[in-house]
Parts: sequence; C-alpha cells; structure tokens
Amino acid sequence: MSGHLAVVGLGPGDSSCLTPEAETALADARALYGYGPYLDRLPPRAGQTRHASDNREERGRAAAALRHAAQGVRVAVVSGGDPGVFAMAAAVCEEIESGPESWRALDIAIVPGITAMLAVAARIGAPLGHDFCALSLSDNLKPWELIERRLEAAASTGFVIALYNPMSRARPWQFGAALERLRRHLPPSTPVVFGRAVTRADEHIDVVTLQHAAKLEADMATLVIIGSRETRVLARPGKLPLVYTPRASAEPSA
Ligand code: SAH
Repeated sequence: MSGHLAVVGLGPGDSSCLTPEAETALADARALYGYGPYLDRLPPRAGQTRHASDNREERGRAAAALRHAAQGVRVAVVSGGDPGVFAMAAAVCEEIESGPESWRALDIAIVPGITAMLAVAARIGAPLGHDFCALSLSDNLKPWELIERRLEAAASTGFVIALYNPMSRARPWQFGAALERLRRHLPPSTPVVFGRAVTRADEHIDVVTLQHAAKLEADMATLVIIGSRETRVLARPGKLPLVYTPRASAEPSA
C-alpha cells in the first residue's frame, strides 16, 4: 500500500464552513496531525489516531506526518482556514524538498479551505472587491524590514491589504508599527476592518478608520483588512456597515 498525505483546510472555525471534500479527507484518514486546538474542533472517530503538536512546530509536524504516510498509512495534516495560506501545505512541501527521495513518490492532496480573509470580508461586504494582497505580520520567518517595505509598496500602489498574524504576546509592537507605516501612504479616513474569531462563538467585527485603528486590540485570532483609497463604507441603520471596494478603479495610480 502506498502512503497518502492530505493537507486539509478546516476553514475559519465553524463546521458549516468545512467543505465536503475536507470532510471526506478527514473521514478517510487513519492518523490526524495538527495544532491541538484545530484537532479539538473535529469529532473523534474510531480507528483514527491523533497527533497534536504546538503551533510553532510546523516543520516537525510535517516531517512526522510524512514519515507516518511513508509507512503506507493514510494521514491527514490539518490547518485552520486554507492550508496553502501561511500554513501547513508549504511546510509539507519544504519537508518533501529536503527529505528522503522516497517522500516524492507519496500521494499528496492539498484540500482547500475558506481562508480567514475571505470569511472576514464576507461578513462585512466586499472589501476585497478589487485588487488586494495578503501579508503576514509575523516576523518569525522573515525580517521586519521586509514586512515594512511590502506594506509601503502595497499601500502606495492601491492594494487593499489583508493582514494575517497581526499581533501575539511575542510580537506586541509590530501591529502599531505597521499602522504607522500605512498612515504615511493612506488618508486617516481609510476604512479598516477588524475581524476576530470569525464564525466562532466569540466572533467580533469592528470597522474603524486608519486614524483610530491603533486604539483597537488585535490578537492572534484577528484578521485586519486595510482598505485602499477607493474602499467605501455604507452606513446601515442598526446593522454593521457595508464595506466595499468598487470593481472599477478610478485612480490611474494611488
Ligand atoms: N491558514 C490560515 C491562516 C493561518 S495564519 C487561513 O487560511 O485562514 C493565522 C492567522 O489567520 C491569525 O493570526 C488570524 O490573522 C487569521 N485567522 C485565522 N482564523 C481566523 C478567524 N476565524 N477569524 C479571524 N482571523 C482568523
């Protein structure tokens, strides 16, 4: 029997956001690997083993899952959101590249999921309705100077920006520094969406302006969308506003 490794996206939280394809991949697996809280989202299944690991141990987790799959077992590694977005799919590819030749013969399936920026955007309108980019604010795997350059390039050329990993206990100042960079290129009135724990019981959405964004708390469960100069906010009585970026760009350059 040849080994099989599925890298499965669980979506942003609620099980209704899990795709049928992901459900099938999870049901078919004999062993599940993942960050403990993600595994906890899944109901126990008879005959399936679970291998929880810490958030930061992505390469070690990927290697362990590949070793297990190489024994001829059907293995699934889980990721929150989409596994290809700042998550396990790239870690698995990195391990295959540097691992034993035999790992290249394994069946690998990447099963997509709803990534956080799409879940947050859908809650509030269509902030990603025109050109946008996604950036992780974590400087664990890249230098902070590079993050600042990318923020400035994105803001100054008119991209809406989805910020993943805005803040953690180990990275307390980076989000404030990022906002400061963005204020150099964008008007104070630029809309900013904070989407926290979207589709989970403690979901919370805030819409503010860039001017006031530093007053809000972001954490590891928050995704922040920074609008462009064209992003609009439509107030609605008794409801969250609709934040959207029109499909046609009026500006030749931002
Ligand atoms: N693979 C994941 C992203 C991993 S990086 C995905 O595709 O969504 C982790 C970051 O994702 C968090 O710091 C946060 O910015 C964002 N995130 C994940 N789930 C979220 C949720 N339910 N609500 C808001 N942001 C979320």
